[in-house]
Amino acid sequence: MNCGDLRQKIYLFYYGELSAGELEEIYLHLAECDHCQEEKNLIARILQTLKDGMAEEAPPETIRRRLYESLDVSQLGK
Ligand SMILES: [Zn+2]
Repeated sequence: MNCGDLRQKIYLFYYGELSAGELEEIYLHLAECDHCQEEKNLIARILQTLKDGMAEEAPPETIRRRLYESLDVSQLGK
């Protein structure tokens, strides 16, 4: 896993949608990459802010879209 892979999967990480193997790859990468640790912390804060400001029944798709809008994801692979 590289930094780009992690950025694409970190959202799924927070929604428990990753397989055990993917989780292990993320933890391994985070352990050795300070930049991605910061990225992870940033996303955690954004997600918490979105949840706090949203109706409880907001569908995951809405949260996902707002998260992506909050980040500069233009360089992410399609
Ligand atoms: Zn990284």
